[in-house]
Amino acid sequence: SLPVVAIVGRPNVGKSTIFNRLAGERIAIVEDQPGITRDRIYTRSEWNGREFHLIDTGGLEFGEKDEILEHIKNQVELALEEADVILFVTNARDSVTPADEEVARLLYRTKKPVVVAVNKVDSHKHADEMYDFYRLGFEQVIAISALHGTGTGDMLDALVDYF
Ligand code: GDP
Ligand code: MG
Repeated sequence: SLPVVAIVGRPNVGKSTIFNRLAGERIAIVEDQPGITRDRIYTRSEWNGREFHLIDTGGLEFGEKDEILEHIKNQVELALEEADVILFVTNARDSVTPADEEVARLLYRTKKPVVVAVNKVDSHKHADEMYDFYRLGFEQVIAISALHGTGTGDMLDALVDYF
């Protein structure tokens, strides 16, 4: 079966934008029980001839602010169950937030490889902002702009390297 890449991260960092940019033929929405926020969205993707499944574990994000941490925990749990490689998405605009640190803490438990994508680096003026994110503790940190598509090739190279 194909390798699975799961996208995790707090809301609004650009997970779904990345997912949609990489999405192949067809997108499937899988909802578990309503309210448990284990909804996730699957597609098939490919990079340099290497096919893989991609999951947006952010799925259908909704709920009150105080449900967000619980939601993030569910997401990361799902990613750890289903993924071979984890794409941890953050956002250069906000630097490292407590929610990013919480995701990182949850991911430390896994032996699965983690690639950090620092999204919304839309211009080279913001390129230095990615260095902050090394303090999350992961080796692979890559600046991208899901909006413009810059950096996504490097990100994909890093992901498929782990297959
Ligand atoms: P999610 O909640 O993590 O799935 O985030 P979304 O993909 O829904 O994106 C949240 C917002 O950020 C949307 O308004 C996107 O258009 C915007 N966004 C996503 N990627 C980028 C990017 O690379 N640059 C900028 N400037 N905005 C982005
Ligand atoms: Mg989303």
